[in-house]
Amino acid sequence: MAEAAEDLTYPCKVAVVYHPAFSDKGYPALKGRVAPAFQELESRGLLELESVRLLEAKPADEDLAAEVHSESHLQGVRASGYYEIALLSAGSVVVGATEVAAGRALASFCFVGAAGHHASHDGFWGFCFLNDVAMAITRLRGSAGLRRFAIIDIDPHFGDGTRDILGPDPGVLHVNFHSGYGMAKSGGPKNIDIALPHNADDRHFLAGVDEALAAARDFEHDLLFIVFGHDGHRDDYGAFELGDGVYASFARKVKESFPEGVCYVLSGGADERVARRAVGDVVEVLAR
Ligand SMILES: [Zn+2]
Repeated sequence: MAEAAEDLTYPCKVAVVYHPAFSDKGYPALKGRVAPAFQELESRGLLELESVRLLEAKPADEDLAAEVHSESHLQGVRASGYYEIALLSAGSVVVGATEVAAGRALASFCFVGAAGHHASHDGFWGFCFLNDVAMAITRLRGSAGLRRFAIIDIDPHFGDGTRDILGPDPGVLHVNFHSGYGMAKSGGPKNIDIALPHNADDRHFLAGVDEALAAARDFEHDLLFIVFGHDGHRDDYGAFELGDGVYASFARKVKESFPEGVCYVLSGGADERVARRAVGDVVEVLAR
């Protein structure tokens, strides 16, 4: 795998950011799907394509984590035993977002060993330790001059940590899919909660995606993050009853609206077969 290349004069279609530690040392509920999903990219021949670039994740700076989280939060993460993998996971997102922001990739797909959307400024739960997207946004504002960001979180669990940190931020649109009516949190025009029923099917979900993409088009962001949980598949552990083909349909919709400037961040999901299909299909859509 290559270091982030500084001298490339053309963008690849998709940068895939990966590290083998995600499957070796990742959070137990999440790590089992990581290597199979990555092997799926290999077996489909996607990593051989000129349009695809493979990058190795690097740990995020601890100073960056301290810009987003309180000291007591970081002490708790250190005590959890997942601090190193959380830094490497957040660092994967920083690498992937930076590649897109710098124009070296039209899109990126960032593997992780621990998720981020339940990590708030001062608390964490649900396989999440550091808020990877909030850390990447903080870094890009400091280093790349980007100001406005959209987040579409399709993981069926409410992205409460992201809402806590970025909900009040006027430069961030947070569109948050979740299961369960009446759970809408702070709301407002730039905090959009798309509540779907527990048994939401592909049609329900893709209608919500249209709504999310319309909101993102109106927001005129500099970069779009997709919090990509595949735990909404009917064979995975979250709510929703999504089918095998939905993630390709989703990625095509996103690409039609935003042909560039998109950073996918792996989130919830445990089922190996679902992960192979979901991640393989998304990267294949991005690569073609
Ligand atoms: Zn989830």
